[in-house]
Amino acid sequence: MKEIRGRFAPSPSGPLHLGNLFCGLLSWLSAKKQNGAWVLRIEDLDPLRSYPEQVESCLAALRWFGLDFDEGPEKEGLCAPYFQGARTALYQQAFEKLTAKGLVYPCFCSRAELHAASAPHLSDGSVVYSGRCAGLTREQAAEKAKKRPPAFRLRVPDETIVFEDGVYGEVRQDLRAECGDFILRRSDGVFAYQLAVTVDDALMGMTEVVRGRDLLASTPRQLYLYRLLGYKPPRFYHIPLLLDENGARLAKREGALGLAALQKRFKTPEKLLGRLAFAAGLIDRPAPLTAQELAREFSWEKLKREDVRLPPGFYKP
Ligand code: GLU
Repeated sequence: MKEIRGRFAPSPSGPLHLGNLFCGLLSWLSAKKQNGAWVLRIEDLDPLRSYPEQVESCLAALRWFGLDFDEGPEKEGLCAPYFQGARTALYQQAFEKLTAKGLVYPCFCSRAELHAASAPHLSDGSVVYSGRCAGLTREQAAEKAKKRPPAFRLRVPDETIVFEDGVYGEVRQDLRAECGDFILRRSDGVFAYQLAVTVDDALMGMTEVVRGRDLLASTPRQLYLYRLLGYKPPRFYHIPLLLDENGARLAKREGALGLAALQKRFKTPEKLLGRLAFAAGLIDRPAPLTAQELAREFSWEKLKREDVRLPPGFYKP
């Protein structure tokens, strides 16, 4: 196995937009610059929000941009499978390990109860759990389980997790006050992102994780899981978000331009890569270039820390 291993982990819930590609690009650049391996993992954890055709379009987009992966779908390596949907047994093992430590409890709270007006909200829109179900006795839980299947939460300690992000520097989070006991498995049996991503990044030998800064608040939870499960954590690089010309965040559901539209406008990926890299501060003029050429010049220091707003005319052919 190569010493450096990076990954791109898109969820096939909608078409890949430029923001996802920006993330894939940076992760690829960082791995390639260090002669490392780059892994594609499809995060189809939630069967209700995963579409096979989106996997195809993701593969097509990566191909067009020249972001070749060393392991992933249709390129099985040592860490197969590369679809989260096929890795449930691994999440179950980790879940059982945490349960055996006495750190997992069932939670019967409804959405409405969780989002009660008094609940403090996290930056990612989730709420700090009140601990309402933390003290249920076995009998009380069994009684409640007759009416509705529970979700399962992990008890967190009163502790501040501190880590050094490769882009944003020192990040601190008080687990209990700013996060609370968090979900490991949903009431429909689907394992939570926090658990699955930690298990996968660890078992796939990732040494670096590059992703949007919208996931910065998740990382302390994951670091806590790394510790409990006895895994060595990777280095994290959270990257600025990509904003459209009006300053709004690019998002799948808002119909940000998909691959076909980008191909139509730009004809070649080099032109788009050049403009994108320039907007992000990676190169000093918006000249067309390939991903390989960009990799030669890449360094994390060049990347802007503030969110990257696409300039007017960005999409002009
Ligand atoms: N699957 C997540 C997403 O598409 C990314 C998770 C990660 O990179 O940790 O937003």
